[in-house]
Amino acid sequence: MSIRQIQRISTGISQHWVGDGFPVNTMFSYLSDDDISPFLLLDYAGPADFKPSDVPRGVDYHPHRGFETVTIVYQGEVVHRDTAGHAGKIGPGDVQWMTAARGVLHEEKHSDSFTYSGGTLEMVQLWVNLPARYKMSTPRYQGILTKDIPIVTLGSNIVRVIAGSFLGVHGIAKTFTPVHLYDIRLIAGASLDIPVEPEFNASLLILEGEVDIAGKTLKAAELVVFSIEGGSISIKAEKNTKMLFMSGAPISEPIVGSGPFVMNTEAEIRQAFHDFKSGKFV
Ligand code: MN
Repeated sequence: MSIRQIQRISTGISQHWVGDGFPVNTMFSYLSDDDISPFLLLDYAGPADFKPSDVPRGVDYHPHRGFETVTIVYQGEVVHRDTAGHAGKIGPGDVQWMTAARGVLHEEKHSDSFTYSGGTLEMVQLWVNLPARYKMSTPRYQGILTKDIPIVTLGSNIVRVIAGSFLGVHGIAKTFTPVHLYDIRLIAGASLDIPVEPEFNASLLILEGEVDIAGKTLKAAELVVFSIEGGSISIKAEKNTKMLFMSGAPISEPIVGSGPFVMNTEAEIRQAFHDFKSGKFV
């Protein structure tokens, strides 16, 4: 099976703070990129050090409609609360998969204990699009703790299967369209081949270390978007590495988004702002 080549490399397209808790680098966005569907956006936060505080930092209640937010914590601890009645605390290795669908308000904060102790925060938030037929469905929350994430061990290397499957091992995350999401740790010198279905978009975020892909060296905080042609991705670790791999079937529908809403038409975006202002997101 042929090897997928690198389509492009991103070192980030926008650095900004989300509230006062999350200093993020946006690695891709549907606003500028058309080769990432079903994913819409990836924000990489940190690693950033926070001093002890009495007041949890983060972002206050805000709306979302039309997609899912997937939060993966590597260091630190965050809490989530939403108006659909879901709440959860996630720490290193844990994942929160929130389906906003027709709409929720949620807050995203550092946990009390992380706030009081201070420390290093490192996390990723990935936005996953919903097909039109599910955009106005019922909101859902999946708290996926590290103990529930299956691990594929290949020698000293590991692939944690958050969603989809790898070598026949299935993650527990429920998704609306086919998505694979892996937390990968390779030791220096190791190689890994990842099979990818034809026509699936695929990308890889390097969080730590250094890898060689198709003759190119990639370092921490760089993201590779792979070309659509070819059957598998081949990675060689030059150093001990930590990576997030994502692939999925593109959703071939128009995308119209504004701020926290991502729908299919301008009229649906106007409706989302109208519904939010008239208090329907509760
Ligand atoms: Mn949010």
